[in-house]
Formats: sequence, structure tokens, C-alpha cells
Amino acid sequence: MTALPDFTRIEAMDAADGLRSMRERFILPSGLIYLDGNSLGVASHAAFAELQKAATEEWGQNLIRSWNTAGWFDMPLALGDRVGRLIGAAAGQTVVCDTTSINIYKALHAAMALRPDRSVIVSEGGSFPTDIYMAEGVVSTRPGASLRLEGVDAPSIEDLIDGTVAVVLVNHVNYKSGELRDMAALTRKAHEHGALVIWDLCHTAGALPVDLDGANVDFAVGCTYKYLNGGPGAPAFIYAAERHHGDISQPLSGWWGHARPFAFEKHYAAGEGIRRFLCGTQPILSLRALKGALDIWDEVDMAALREKSLGLTDLFIALVEEKCAGHGLELESPRDRAKRGSQVSFSHPNAYEIMQALIARGVIGDFRAPSTLRFGFTPLYVRYADVWQAVVILEDILRTGAWQDARFAVRAAVT
Ligand SMILES: *Cc1c(COP(=O)(O)O)cnc(C)c1O
Repeated sequence: MTALPDFTRIEAMDAADGLRSMRERFILPSGLIYLDGNSLGVASHAAFAELQKAATEEWGQNLIRSWNTAGWFDMPLALGDRVGRLIGAAAGQTVVCDTTSINIYKALHAAMALRPDRSVIVSEGGSFPTDIYMAEGVVSTRPGASLRLEGVDAPSIEDLIDGTVAVVLVNHVNYKSGELRDMAALTRKAHEHGALVIWDLCHTAGALPVDLDGANVDFAVGCTYKYLNGGPGAPAFIYAAERHHGDISQPLSGWWGHARPFAFEKHYAAGEGIRRFLCGTQPILSLRALKGALDIWDEVDMAALREKSLGLTDLFIALVEEKCAGHGLELESPRDRAKRGSQVSFSHPNAYEIMQALIARGVIGDFRAPSTLRFGFTPLYVRYADVWQAVVILEDILRTGAWQDARFAVRAAVT
């Protein structure tokens, strides 16, 4: 292993960082090292400006006319294409709407309907829970359907895929460990058995480049409030490959997905293409904040983003393992950078208390039950110096036992 850089070298790394100027676009509270952009991305000046304009001019002054004059009606599709660029989806295949959970529901039903002679959904026991919960909900409404889970029914997801499987629902980057799956290989494997694939990109979009079209993916879903910085509860996205568009059925057949919503026809007729994944009226103010956030992404080179992300996570792992050795932290994320998303997790029996102590000292990461300290590294606004400083504070908390203060053991509702 190469020697750890000293702080002068760290400052030089920040000075040479091609994404350095991006940090100015964001509203970063002073004195805070924010390593939780994988849970809620930071606000940007552009998002605030869009929100302000949408509220005061478009809603405040122009009212109902803004559906036409301010592009409100087409916003889910327009923003969908802009998210699409970041995930390797050609235009017309991605729409921004609803939540990731709801989009998982729609994608699962659509996929099952495309494989009417099959009844099995495959997913991961270690998935972000909502994916499993939604799959359980789908299974409960489809007689004969069943769910197989990696880690429960077999050790590896590949072993669960056979000719009875309709769809594989899988996370690209695991929310807890940050482990990255091989999208092209698993998609190919599913297709060899005649199954479809839904990729959950919540920890991918805005964190690393991905090529949905190139990997021949069927469906994908994901958040915009994590690495894309769209704001709390910002609408999610759903992607469906164009080859499926003619055959997709949408279980939530609301009027926004209708072919002619303003004809007010008596019966449902599915709209063209990805539009049919819409259901009802969308949250325009949230979409407008997201639009501002996406304006920043138009200037980002995804290869450079990935390189910096790996630089940050490599440095964090090396510094923690060197400076915090002997304090019981165990790396939960892949050491191999090619298998890592943009986060690093360490386990520790007192992970909750340690994270609370870190937050009290201005280093915000998060805790995932039962014993994970999770740190997200958002290349647009996290500096190498922040990584260094976070480790200095973590080491101090561990060495002094500061985390043992009783107030750090009090559990909040959201961790
Ligand atoms: C954050 C996250 C979700 C969140 O779903 P919501 O419906 O937006 O609450 C879903 N899946 C994964 C993998 C996530 O990380």
C-alpha cells in the first residue's frame, strides 16, 4: 500500500480537483461536514431560485395558466429525459413521478404482465426494505405469485433465476454496504432465462455513471433526493426500455397516463410510451426544485465524478483504517474500488452512539440498524479536506470514548 497522504498533499488534491467549483453551487451550512448526501442531498442556489420563481410568479401570479405557459404539464417527461442522460437512457424512456416505492409497484406489475406464464419475483434479502415490502404487496394481490430472496432462499441471486421467474428486482448499489452489482452480467443472466429485470438506482443516480440502454435493462427506478439533490421527498423516476412500450400495462391507470387526459373520456386508454407510467397530478413545486438541481448536472462529466468519488472513498477507508485502528471498526464496504458505490460503511457494536457523537461534532453521516455507520461521499460538494477532518474527529471520539455520553444513546425516529 502507498503511504497515506499528509494534509499538505490533501490540500493539493483539492486544489487540483476538476469538480472543485461545483461546491459553490450548493448551500452548505458552515462548520458542517456533510457525509449524508446518499440520504438527503444538499440544497443548491439553483433549486432555491426555481422554487422561488415557481411559487411567486407561476403559482402566485399566473395561477392555472402556468400548466401551459410554464411547462408544468410536460415537466415529468422533460425532467425524465434529463435524469435519463445521467443513467444511460436515451430520450423518451424515463419519467419523473411519484415515489420510488410506488414506481417499484408499477414496474413489478408491468413486468409480471409481460410474463403472464410466470409467477416468481426474485429479489434480495439485503435489499433496501421498501423493495421487498412492495414485492410482498404485489405477491399478495396476484394469486399464485411468490417471492424468492437472495440470502434466504439461496446465497446468490444468480442461483434463484430459472424459467419460472418473471422478474428480478435488484439494487444496483446496496444501501447499507455500498456494494455495486454488475448490471450487464445480471441482466444478461436474467434474460437467458427469459426473465425481466428492474434495477433500483437510488444509490446510483448522481453517484456513478451507468448505462441502462447499453446493459439492455428492462426497467429501472430511483430517487432524486439523494445524490441528485432534488430536495426532501423530491419525485422519483422510472425507466422502461422502449422495446417494451407498446406492451406495458400500468396498474395505477390514472388520468395523467391516459392517451388524452383532457378529452375526459369515460374509459382508460393508455398514453404513448413512458407517459403511461404517470398516474395523477404531480407535485410541481418539488419538480421545480428538482429542475434547478438538474441544471447543475448538465455541466457534470460523469467519468470525472466517478473518479473523484473513488478518490474520496479510497482516502476515507485508508485514513480510518490507519488512524482509528484498534477501536473496533470493521469495513463493511468493498475494498475493491470497482465494486464500490459512493459510500463507505463501517460496522461497530456502538455504531448508533458513535454516529450521534459525530453529528454533535458537525460530521453528519447516518446509522443503519443494527450496527452500521454509513458515510456518503458526494463528489460535487465534498472535499478531500473534509474526509481528512471527519477522520480526525472520528478518531478523537473513539480514543476519548466521547460517544459513551448518555445523551448519544437516545434514539430518534429517523436515523
Ligand atoms: C432511498 C431508497 C428508496 C426510497 O424509496 P421512497 O419510496 O422514495 O421512500 C428505495 N429504494 C432504495 C434502494 C433506496 O435506497
